[in-house]
Amino acid sequence: MEKKRKISIIGSTGSIGTQALEVIEKLHDKFEIIALAGGNNVELLKKQAEKFKPKYVCHNSASPLNGADRGKDIKILHGADGLDEICSNKENDIILVACSGKIGLKPTLKAIENGIDIALANKETLVMAGDIVMKKAHEKGVNIIPVDSEHCAIHQCIKDINQVEKLIITASGGPFLHKTIDEMKQATVKEALAHPRWNMGRKITVDSATLMNKGLEIIEAHHLFGIDYDDIEVVVHPQSIVHSAIEYKDGSVVAQIGLPSMHIPIQYAISYPERFEGIKSKSFSFADAARLDFEKPDFEKFPSVKLAYQAGKTGGTATVCLNAANEEAVFAFLEGKIKLYQIYEITKQIFDSHEVIQNPTIDEIFAVDEAVRKLTKDLIQNM
Ligand code: MG
Repeated sequence: MEKKRKISIIGSTGSIGTQALEVIEKLHDKFEIIALAGGNNVELLKKQAEKFKPKYVCHNSASPLNGADRGKDIKILHGADGLDEICSNKENDIILVACSGKIGLKPTLKAIENGIDIALANKETLVMAGDIVMKKAHEKGVNIIPVDSEHCAIHQCIKDINQVEKLIITASGGPFLHKTIDEMKQATVKEALAHPRWNMGRKITVDSATLMNKGLEIIEAHHLFGIDYDDIEVVVHPQSIVHSAIEYKDGSVVAQIGLPSMHIPIQYAISYPERFEGIKSKSFSFADAARLDFEKPDFEKFPSVKLAYQAGKTGGTATVCLNAANEEAVFAFLEGKIKLYQIYEITKQIFDSHEVIQNPTIDEIFAVDEAVRKLTKDLIQNM
């Protein structure tokens, strides 16, 4: 019998994590789950543990995981130390880092140090520490397979990176694509969360409404594929059928196409380099897709994209600052403290005042992250 691929999931109770478990359930004869790590949603984590029977469960809640290990051989781990233990376990063939936020960075680095391949869904890992993470991955010969649909698409298109002229990243444009700037300024949380194509977590959905998500993806793409920012292009494509493309030096453009479902990129990333019949196999039809539209992004309406290019080109802690200020502003928006449009204004103000550290250490990155978050919160408090 074929050997099962051993996998752990960091962030199993989130949007990507739960969909990854659906993929694994379908491919139950291909995968064996070593560990599931979730945050505070202990009830869901318990249900997942009962169903998938991992060896380890890690949670980050104050309340213990009562009964999750009852009558089973499950070891309960907790917090950052628990994630550390999971990512040091060389039994893993691959670890899916599907949590959101900076919490994903240290476990990813730990897994890389231990030579374990990564299916990466956590944006902050590359936005905050792309130089360090990619260097270490190259040194250790570790594969980092992107889960994010755009990067996953590019990963599938590339045969030889040296022959690539540019990356073309598609953006759905979010819920405000055809709204005016004034309408956008009046947007409610509910409107910002009503994404037309993708069903995702709240933070990333707001980022998709402001297009900051695309900005962060440009930075991720730069690190993942080692392509200059000037050779990364964004194109708005409302149907989200073309997930991204690359142009080769000879002018040939290769795109990856499929339904807008995260099951496909998740399955690709955890199965790579193999392909199996999955949840969404045989479900795409060109005739059903009918038409595909493309347009240039409106940088005046979505200035976050420009700011992200600027941060990326500046390098060092500029992207750490961008990410932290934006995230705090998004949280404030979700709490009703600020308007949608102020997310950019606040982020820009904090970004412009940031003194960039080039080639930062991991400790410096976390220190900047913390300082920027505090500054941003203070700024919002005093508005
Ligand atoms: Mg994406």
